[in-house]
Amino acid sequence: MTTARTAARTARPGERARTARPGGQARSGRYDVVVVGGGAAGLSAGLTLARARRSVLVIDSGEPRNAPAEGVHNYLGLDGVPPAELVAVGRAEVSGYGGEVVAGRVVSVERPEGGDFRVVLEDGSAVAARRLLVTTGLVDELPDVPGLAELWGRDVLHCPYCHGWEVRDQPIGVLATGPLAVHQALLWRQWSERVTLFLHDTVEPDDEQYERLAARGIAVVDGRVAGLETTSAGDAAGRLSGVRLAGGRVVPCRALVVATRGTARAGLLAGLGVETTERVMDGWVVGDHVVADPAGATSVPGVWVAGNAADLTAQVVVAAAGGLRAAGAINADLLAEDERLALAARRAPVAAGPSHGPSHGFSPEVEAEVCERVAGERRHGI
Ligand SMILES: Cc1cc2nc3c(=O)[nH]c(=O)nc-3n(C[C@H](O)[C@H](O)[C@H](O)COP(=O)(O)OP(=O)(O)OC[C@H]3O[C@@H](n4cnc5c(N)ncnc54)[C@H](O)[C@@H]3O)c2cc1C
Repeated sequence: MTTARTAARTARPGERARTARPGGQARSGRYDVVVVGGGAAGLSAGLTLARARRSVLVIDSGEPRNAPAEGVHNYLGLDGVPPAELVAVGRAEVSGYGGEVVAGRVVSVERPEGGDFRVVLEDGSAVAARRLLVTTGLVDELPDVPGLAELWGRDVLHCPYCHGWEVRDQPIGVLATGPLAVHQALLWRQWSERVTLFLHDTVEPDDEQYERLAARGIAVVDGRVAGLETTSAGDAAGRLSGVRLAGGRVVPCRALVVATRGTARAGLLAGLGVETTERVMDGWVVGDHVVADPAGATSVPGVWVAGNAADLTAQVVVAAAGGLRAAGAINADLLAEDERLALAARRAPVAAGPSHGPSHGFSPEVEAEVCERVAGERRHGI
C-alpha cells in the first residue's frame, strides 16, 4: 500500500514543495479561490487550482463523511486506502504546488455588493476570496434504533459498492425505513444469498414485490426492530451479531443495511441566496443538495459547489472528479475577469500629463505596440 509520505514525495515537482499546514491557522489575506471543505472534492479542486497557478486556500474541519470506514473502495489505483491516508496525500499534493490547506471551520460567508467574499472562521479570523467553492459534503441522518449509530460505517452500512465485498456471503439484514427497502434487499442479494428484509412497521410490500423477494430467496421479517446485538468477547467483540425484534426474537446478522437521509452541509450558503433542493427517488425524499449546473456553478455568481454537497450519490472518485471540474470552470471564470480588468486598465482614460506610457489609453505608442504584437514583422511600417 502506498503511504501518504511516499505518494506525496513521488508526486512533487521538488522546487515548489511546501509543507502542509493542516493544523495551522488560516491567515488573513486575499485568495483567488477559497475552498470550504477538504475532502476528496475540495482537495481535488485545490490541487487543480494550485497547478493552474491560482492562489487557493482549502479550509477543512476534519469530519469527512466516510471517516468511520476502514478503507475507501472503488477508487481506481488506491482501492482500500484508509480515508485519513487519502486526505493526507491530497493535502500534501495541494501544498506541494503552493496551495494552502488549513484546519478550521468556516462559520459564515458574506459578500459586500460587487466585492470579494469574506470567509469567516470559527476562531474569528477571516480571509477574502474572489471565488468560493463549497465542498462541505453531507450529513447522514440515521434511523433511530438503539445501538445503530455506534456501528455506523463498520457493520451498519448503506452502500453495497463501498462495503458489499467485505460482507459477501454473510447474513445481511436490510432495515426498511421507506419504500426503497425492497429495492435495497434485491440489490444486496448480489453479495450474499443470506439477505433478510426487516419491515420495521414501515413498509408493506405488494404481492408482486413479495414474489420477487421470494424468487431471490430473501427472507422477510415482520415487526418492529428494537435494537442491535453485538458480540461480547473475542476478536469480534463489539461487532454486530444480530437484530433484536420488539418481541425479543434475535435474527443473526453480520451486517445491517440502512438508507440514510443525506443532508448537504449548505447552511453557510443560505445567506448568499444559494438554493438547495430535495432529491426524490421513487417518490421518496432521500435528502437534499445544492442546486448547481454540471460544472458546479450555483445560481449565485462566484459560488461553486462540488462533491456530496452537490450530488448525494457521488462516491469518492466522483466527488474528486466534481472538484476537478469545478476548479476548471472557476479558473475559466477568473481568466475572463482577469482579461476584463486588463482591457479596462488598458482602455482607461489617459491621466493628465505629457508622458503617455504604452499601456495607457489611445496613443501612437499604444497603437504601435498593438501592431507589433498582432502583426509582428508583417506590419510593414504601420
Ligand atoms: C461509512 C461510509 C463509507 C463510505 N465508503 C466509501 C467507499 O468505500 N468508496 C467510496 O467511493 N465512497 C464511500 N463513501 C462515500 C464518501 O464518503 C463520499 O463519496 C465522499 O466523502 C464525498 O466527498 P466530499 O469531498 O464531497 O465530502 P467529505 O469527504 O465529507 O468532505 C467534506 C469535508 O468538508 C468539511 N467541512 C464541512 N463543513 C465545513 C465547514 N463549515 N468549514 C470547514 N470544513 C467543513 C468536513 O469536515 C469534511 O472534511 C462512504 C460513505 C460512508 C458514510
